[in-house]
Amino acid sequence: MSDAAATASKPSPLHYISEHLQDLRNKGTAPKLRVLDGEQKPVAVFDGKEIINLASNNYLGLTTHKSLRKASLEATRKYGVGAGAVRTIAGTMKLHMELEEQIARFKNVEACVVFQSGFTANAGTVSAVLGKEDLIISDELNHASIIDGARLSKATIKVFKHKDVQDCERILQETANWNGHKLIITDGVFSMDGEIAPLPELCTLAEKYNCIMMIDDAHSSGVLGRNGRGTVDHLNCHGRVHIQVGTLSKAIGAMGGYVCGSRDLIDYLYLRARPFLFSTSHPPGTAAACQAAFTLLDSPEGERLVKKLWANTKFFKRELKKRGFQFKASETPIIPIHVGEVAKAFEFSRKLFDAGVFAPAVGYPTVAEGKARLRAIVSATHKREHLLRAADTLAEVGKTLGVV
Ligand SMILES: *Cc1c(COP(=O)(O)O)cnc(C)c1O
Repeated sequence: MSDAAATASKPSPLHYISEHLQDLRNKGTAPKLRVLDGEQKPVAVFDGKEIINLASNNYLGLTTHKSLRKASLEATRKYGVGAGAVRTIAGTMKLHMELEEQIARFKNVEACVVFQSGFTANAGTVSAVLGKEDLIISDELNHASIIDGARLSKATIKVFKHKDVQDCERILQETANWNGHKLIITDGVFSMDGEIAPLPELCTLAEKYNCIMMIDDAHSSGVLGRNGRGTVDHLNCHGRVHIQVGTLSKAIGAMGGYVCGSRDLIDYLYLRARPFLFSTSHPPGTAAACQAAFTLLDSPEGERLVKKLWANTKFFKRELKKRGFQFKASETPIIPIHVGEVAKAFEFSRKLFDAGVFAPAVGYPTVAEGKARLRAIVSATHKREHLLRAADTLAEVGKTLGVV
């Protein structure tokens, strides 16, 4: 047998992937990607079908806002399409520095560093700030990027029950003699249930037990607080949170993440956060679009958009409740519709899509096993008629599946 023939007859060393994949497909838990053709809007075309869109994180409609588009186009025309290097070599443009200063002013903190994504902001920051002698105390439903950052840091990780301040304190008492640094970390708004973190109580614990306090405000930036300043502003915890992470990819409408804190923290991250050091910075168009987004947020139009988002959220929740849906925990525009079994959640989402409404199913590993759900997200740009039609359709399809 020739070498080539011998190679061809051997199974690929990756064949186990195909087996896992087939297994997921058989269980009905391997959905295909929905493909958007056109703009990310409240009514959009996915897979060639026009649907009411309850699936995007575009809370304020900024992905298609004219002032962001204009800023992005102008910066692209002037400066080209790429930054050409990582920040620490030659990829720091004036646009990046201006954006960081603007965000720091907006959040009323000393300094800010922008990352390529919220994911890299979390992962890069936790792993730069903590080391193997240290302790991370983390809410059990924190985002994957926090968990990955915690693992990369090699610190000891202890998990407290979701939003359970007493359980967090139990861990702090048990580790009272810990020699290394300690970090308490929580999402500001939990992305799967739409709940707000008990931030004031966690800050009190951080102060009592001398911990660093960190919050991930991905779903709160542009949503909570004055003009969308985030959870710290919403819950009046100014000056009590050492590290505030946010994303530029959700309500801000473009792409990226940021970390806000003291000047020294940010200068240290410039030297030690690995995504900052080893991955190229934002294209000029993206940095300029983000600047335009913060300018907009901090204007009367921004205030109006945030108010509209909350008015739409109240309206949609009321309409869903009238139709028998329950989502006690949600305090934000994220509305979970609990189904339980993952295959059924995928079936619900598929039937809903066929009926003209897009709300994705989320199952394991995004949420715990047996807690599968649909997740609906309201935006400022939905019209009442969209939300009414979506509520009717959810109820109709939900009934056929015994979910409501
Ligand atoms: C979406 C999200 C991120 C990641 O943000 P990207 O900018 O999309 O990478 C981080 N944390 C939480 C809680 C999120 O929901």
